[in-house]
Amino acid sequence: NRQVLLASRPEGEPTVENFRLVETPVPALTEGQVLVRNHFLSLDPYMRGRMNEGKSYAAPQPLDEVMIGGTVGEVIESRNDHFKVGDKVVGMGGWQEYVVVNATQRGVLQKVDTTHVPLSAYLGAVGMPGVTAWYGLVKIINPKAGETVVVSAASGAVGGAVGQLAKVRGCRVVGIAGGPQKCAQVVEELGFDACIDYKAHADVKSLSKALKDAAPNGVDGYFENVGGMILDAVMLRANAFSRIALCGMIAGYNGEPIPMSYPQLLLTNRMKLEGFIVSEHMEVWPEALKELGTLVATGQFKYRETLAQGIASAPEAFLGLLKGKNFGKQLVKLV
Ligand code: NDP
Repeated sequence: NRQVLLASRPEGEPTVENFRLVETPVPALTEGQVLVRNHFLSLDPYMRGRMNEGKSYAAPQPLDEVMIGGTVGEVIESRNDHFKVGDKVVGMGGWQEYVVVNATQRGVLQKVDTTHVPLSAYLGAVGMPGVTAWYGLVKIINPKAGETVVVSAASGAVGGAVGQLAKVRGCRVVGIAGGPQKCAQVVEELGFDACIDYKAHADVKSLSKALKDAAPNGVDGYFENVGGMILDAVMLRANAFSRIALCGMIAGYNGEPIPMSYPQLLLTNRMKLEGFIVSEHMEVWPEALKELGTLVATGQFKYRETLAQGIASAPEAFLGLLKGKNFGKQLVKLV
């Protein structure tokens, strides 16, 4: 069983040296356990936070242990009545090829139906990133038809879902993404009304001007994944009583400060800004997954995946995700 461990904690930007690939034998199963062959590993920005020591909303990833991560795979051996060989499952299998799961605890391993939804989608559109999009959009922004919703990191796993869910709700949707290719996909494949390439704008004023053209009626809801200049530019176009769902601030995940230039607009525009962590809202997962699953199964929802091949490629792919090298949901294909 090849595994990737956290070897050391990064100072600022992480490197491949922070990880270590090892090979260990798969232990024999005891009663209640299940052996899963992981087919796909999900790489997610939150993993950067777990690499740090110190207090956050979740405990740090311990050194010299298998990196935490969501996985989908197939049961290949079972000593648990609820799981049989061949079942497709989703869980937190970590950065490794096989995982032994103590499946007696409810919820640690979930069976999934791959008749209409591909297995990998349970790590993206019909998984944690999809629910994240749903929560921030529906519960925080709560848009009305005809309102304008803006989302950053628009071509990503979360951003792509935000825009499509907002379109279903009758909104005008504007994405912000890095580069002309990502922007073209956001409009042409995902069906956003417009997308702005933030890399083509040197400063806040220029980005904000582009936003004025793309959102002539102003911004009613902003789903924030990035922070920094993009947030400032959107704030300058915010309408009275607009809402910001603060989902991520990837521009600061290596410890960079992220100044906010116009906090006074929160006051003058009577805005709401609310941060959230999706795993603290388990109560919405069934409703969110039902909508997302139906949209994917009926082909109304589009998503893109970037696949790295083999567990050894996980560190490099993860570092790429933090730099925007991924295009859509970043996965590692393990079989
Ligand atoms: P993505 O698939 O969107 O990948 C990350 C993207 O962020 C990159 O592709 C890149 O897109 C963009 N990016 C990276 N660095 C920068 C930067 N310095 N400035 C601007 N853009 C940058 O990842 P996810 O969809 O998985 O996650 C999106 C956000 O949602 C993240 O911030 C993540 O932490 C957050 N999140 C929060 C959760 C919660 O519970 N609050 C749960 C899940 C995710 P581009 O090339 O367009 O710049």
